[in-house]
Amino acid sequence: MRVFNFSAGPAALPLPVLEQARDEMLDWRGSGMSVMEVSHRSKGFIAVAEQAEADLRELLAIPDSYKVLFLQGGASAQFAAVPLNLCPAGARADYVDTGHWSQRAMAEARRFVTVNVAADTAASRHTTVPAQAELRLDAGAAYVHYTPNETIGGVEFPYIPDTGGVPLVADLSSTILSRPLEVARFGLIYAGAQKNIGPSGLAVVIVREDLLGRARPDTPAILDYKAMAGSGSMLNTPPTFGWYIAGLVFRWLKSEGGLAAIGERNRAKAARLYAAIDDSGFYSNPVARECRSWMNVPFALVRPELDAAFLAEATRAGLTNLAGHRAVGGMRASIYNAMPAAGIEALVDFMTDFARRNG
Ligand SMILES: *Cc1c(COP(=O)(O)O)cnc(C)c1O
Repeated sequence: MRVFNFSAGPAALPLPVLEQARDEMLDWRGSGMSVMEVSHRSKGFIAVAEQAEADLRELLAIPDSYKVLFLQGGASAQFAAVPLNLCPAGARADYVDTGHWSQRAMAEARRFVTVNVAADTAASRHTTVPAQAELRLDAGAAYVHYTPNETIGGVEFPYIPDTGGVPLVADLSSTILSRPLEVARFGLIYAGAQKNIGPSGLAVVIVREDLLGRARPDTPAILDYKAMAGSGSMLNTPPTFGWYIAGLVFRWLKSEGGLAAIGERNRAKAARLYAAIDDSGFYSNPVARECRSWMNVPFALVRPELDAAFLAEATRAGLTNLAGHRAVGGMRASIYNAMPAAGIEALVDFMTDFARRNG
């Protein structure tokens, strides 16, 4: 039996994608093999790779002046790849600190560049995002890095920062493809796949062409965006199965009406869940309303001693992986694209019933 899986990542995938992958597992398109068993340089696989890129470009309306890369090492490899590719040794970069993932990105960047913390929301315990006017930007920075959606804190920027002429770099791991996006505002976007794209291990990078070719000479080739772009992300054997699944997910998004339709659905899903939390008198969400995440909804019970019972009963009801991140505790419902509205209804019904019985 399939459950409603609220995992933050690796996260639920759309059922039609899993069904197609299952149906094609032993005999992929008449090859007598699975897609995992064919050469990445074969005509068949190249077609899969090119179609996935074309579909992603269409979904996000990615301008032709951007390269799309399918890389390995997840989002965390990009924490290092970004400074290596965009900064000469000794350069400076601005980082906006909104919590866990921006801090992880900064910690890695400090190995390669001088990091200026352009803003920091520690004073609100990372329940807000800085306003544009609060960003202390350095006009000489090589780039500005931020995390549009903090997956653990459940905090999301309601705006895209204006950085003047300095390239804006975004870790969109947990919010990419959740709604339309103005790609042209960014110098570089990266995302680990395991939230809204496909299997873990894969990362998608969307980079403006004029930013290629600045890599430090000691950059490892497989982290070098220019080398990867020049080889069609096939400098070495790419993660072929992940790329194939990502392609099926992009197809599914198109068949669901594209990102405008998906965005409307996600907005409604999140609104329903936040309203249930706010109106309950039993659950609470600490994040400022204007920057609540559409994808990751942390919440606490008024009586934390009930957490274990809540999680056990939810699991028995087919609602799984609702425990908050180990760093913060409490609960978190991750409601990415693949979570249907029916999953939100089931969760709200369960939460209402649990509150009634324990309130
Ligand atoms: C999940 C996540 C990461 C880490 O991704 P890995 O693929 O495990 O490296 C980084 N940033 C954000 C915002 C995430 O949600």
